[in-house]
Amino acid sequence: MPKLITQVGCPYCGSSCDDIEVLVSDDGTKILEVHNACIIGTNLFFHANDSTRPMLPRMRQPDGSMKEISFEEAVDWTAKTLLAAKKPLIYGFGSTNCEGMSAVGRVAEKSGAVLDNCASICHGPSFLAIFDNGYPSCTLGEVKNRADVVVFWGCNPMHAHPRHTSRYSIFPRGFFTQKGQMQRTIISIDPRQTDTAKLADIHYMLDQGHDYELFDAFRTVLRGHDIPDVVAGCKKEDIIRGATAMKKARFVMIFFGMGCTHTDGRNHNIDIAISLTRDLNSYTKASIMAMRGHYNIAGPGQVWSWQFGFPYCIDLSKGTHAHMNPGETSSIDLAMRDEVDCFVNVGTDAGAHWPIDAVKHVKKHPFITIDPNYCMASEISDLHIPVRIAGVDEGGVVYRMDNVPIQFKAVLKGLSGVPSDEELFDMIYERMCQLTKTEPVWLAAKEDRKYPVKV
Ligand code: SF4
Repeated sequence: MPKLITQVGCPYCGSSCDDIEVLVSDDGTKILEVHNACIIGTNLFFHANDSTRPMLPRMRQPDGSMKEISFEEAVDWTAKTLLAAKKPLIYGFGSTNCEGMSAVGRVAEKSGAVLDNCASICHGPSFLAIFDNGYPSCTLGEVKNRADVVVFWGCNPMHAHPRHTSRYSIFPRGFFTQKGQMQRTIISIDPRQTDTAKLADIHYMLDQGHDYELFDAFRTVLRGHDIPDVVAGCKKEDIIRGATAMKKARFVMIFFGMGCTHTDGRNHNIDIAISLTRDLNSYTKASIMAMRGHYNIAGPGQVWSWQFGFPYCIDLSKGTHAHMNPGETSSIDLAMRDEVDCFVNVGTDAGAHWPIDAVKHVKKHPFITIDPNYCMASEISDLHIPVRIAGVDEGGVVYRMDNVPIQFKAVLKGLSGVPSDEELFDMIYERMCQLTKTEPVWLAAKEDRKYPVKV
């Protein structure tokens, strides 16, 4: 009998929906139906059925072809390569569980690596602003239950976080928002008429890259001062209308995305957004939240802050203490300055999503991809090690965009012999300890380890 598994988490976007239902074949190896997920999440689950998923590591051969090798060989090569490197860069972690993020910490310390995650090219500027100006934020449940003015600044959830609007921000009927969308004023701030903008009551089609000026105009109006007739391409009367709606609201929620972090000003767009939120709190209740991209990209910020004191761009090459300085220790900057001599791509696709020049730089050195699937990074790697898919055939803890931890389930039996990220990093760490004749730390505490250590 096929089995319906409920309360499943979707391992795709930062909405981290945990109300998915998955119908699994009676032998637990195939997904037959997916309920409640958006089209992206549905495709992700069905992708796990793909019979061509890699089951063994593949190593680049002198003739350029890839040849399958055993996990023991792959672990040995990775351990030796990391130990031989002066300054390896271990990057990614948007799409894996917190257990994997924790396990890599020991590998990174042992190899004196720089440990970084996709925030570096995504909401890293938001972290810089948060360091400077704080983070007056809340949970998505508060948004659902209280927010009556919702601002989407430089983000398009209808495409990037498809169920965000129905679960948390526009449509749901909450405790104090019983009328759902009817009770909310939606404001979209985007140079394009996106599908989110089409849903909005007010759309500011600002001039691209002029977000800072528009934030400034809102703050100026809120404080009762005059502004020019047009700011950032938006009319004065429209800005006054939006500022008045925010001021009169019972709870203003500002969501922001790549339209702010990837454009001129970057972290300063976010620090003024935080200042606007603070200003609004003089009149009403207001909160702000980064539209974090991957389902667990908030995870490394949590796990590594606990382990090292820093959320990203963590330089462990000094051996005695961690150091973080984005711009100096951030992945793209390190790559562009040729400061790393080994690259490990984990649960991400730097091959597809980095600037091509940065890819060319890291490609000069050993390049290892740890990922369940074939992707552009795996295809240019010297070694590709497959792992189980977190949230599909491996469970684990993930942090939603509002930093709420959720226990994700495994819905499929994992591919035979394929380890999870955590198991793989533990194997690599243990091999590094064997090679350096040092005692592993902490591994003894993992008495319930699921894999046999064969290396
Ligand atoms: S909105 Fe995001 S987390 Fe929810 S089902 Fe779609 S892709 Fe998955």
